[in-house]
Amino acid sequence: MGEFELIKRYFTRPSPGAVLGVGDDSAILQTAPGMQLAISTDMLIAGRHFFPDVDPYSLGHKALAVNLSDLAACGARPMAFTLALSLPSADAAWLEPFSAGLWALADAHGCELIGGDTTRGPLTLCITVFGEVPGDAKGPTRTLALLRSGAQAGDDIYVSGTLGEAALGLQHQLGRLQLDALAAAACRARLERPTPRVALGLALRGIASACADVSDGLLGDLGHILERSSVGAQLDNAAVLATCPWATSDIDAQLLHDCVLNGGDDYELVFTAAPAHAAAVAAAAHASGTPVQRIGRIDGRPGLRVLDGAGLALATSRSFDHFSQDANMQRSSAT
Ligand code: ADP
Ligand code: MG
Repeated sequence: MGEFELIKRYFTRPSPGAVLGVGDDSAILQTAPGMQLAISTDMLIAGRHFFPDVDPYSLGHKALAVNLSDLAACGARPMAFTLALSLPSADAAWLEPFSAGLWALADAHGCELIGGDTTRGPLTLCITVFGEVPGDAKGPTRTLALLRSGAQAGDDIYVSGTLGEAALGLQHQLGRLQLDALAAAACRARLERPTPRVALGLALRGIASACADVSDGLLGDLGHILERSSVGAQLDNAAVLATCPWATSDIDAQLLHDCVLNGGDDYELVFTAAPAHAAAVAAAAHASGTPVQRIGRIDGRPGLRVLDGAGLALATSRSFDHFSQDANMQRSSAT
């Protein structure tokens, strides 16, 4: 099967939401009046972001999910995406389930594939998503997108869903941890098929003061909000741990703590809101069918403190960074 047959067979479908989709030199999107485009790109490389033999259906899901999560963090509604694909061979037994996983999530979010690029090479996936968000660059608010930069001292800090499950699933797969069958299945599902919190992001427009998605670990991603907002924060250690459904099981306490605070691959939203908006946050969580927990508070003192029950700061380390010294050690066994 050649490049063009491959594109036609697996990656071409009507895209009525676009002016022009797959098949020409560019795709064309029309934004509605009063709306802005939110654009985000994420790349997934075999051996670095996923096991090369991972179930292709899950991989199709995850490649789009991690991108939709970035739109969710901005409160943008997904419109369309492009797919750049480097494949070692045109293997129908792989392409069929990969594209099925991709289409299923795309359909669930009304997000249309409008173009891309396909070449032979090491297995690499790069998706760019386009979303829309109300805004007027020339108006007083500029944009209604949720940004990392709006957190203020006194705001509550919240996180959606669960933290640490994907990291526990990875540790289990690497043989560094033995989860029971129930936990292993749940954590593996979270690692391979994360749920982008798109509905919550939309519901938080005008309510959250700042928002980011948790892709590299809570401490690191909340750290981005603190940096961009020039504020500090204190987290309630017990409340953070309680976001992990397996916190009460007999997993090594240090490992569990690290997975929940620094694990990464959660694709939850961490966001801040003024205490006066607490009821609106609860309503947004309810309306979007997404559980949300309050885990701490923004303060004016720079830095991030994780406090135990007695209010004492615990020693913590930082999130995953692909270029840090131990990055290869941490994930090289995925290759
Ligand atoms: P060009 O050479 O002009 O960049 P290509 O020949 O690479 O165009 O691609 C032909 C068409 O197929 C383009 O519209 C492109 O956007 C689309 N396309 C290529 N690869 C993919 C893919 N993996 N998924 C969706 N569309 C794709
Ligand atoms: Mg091309």
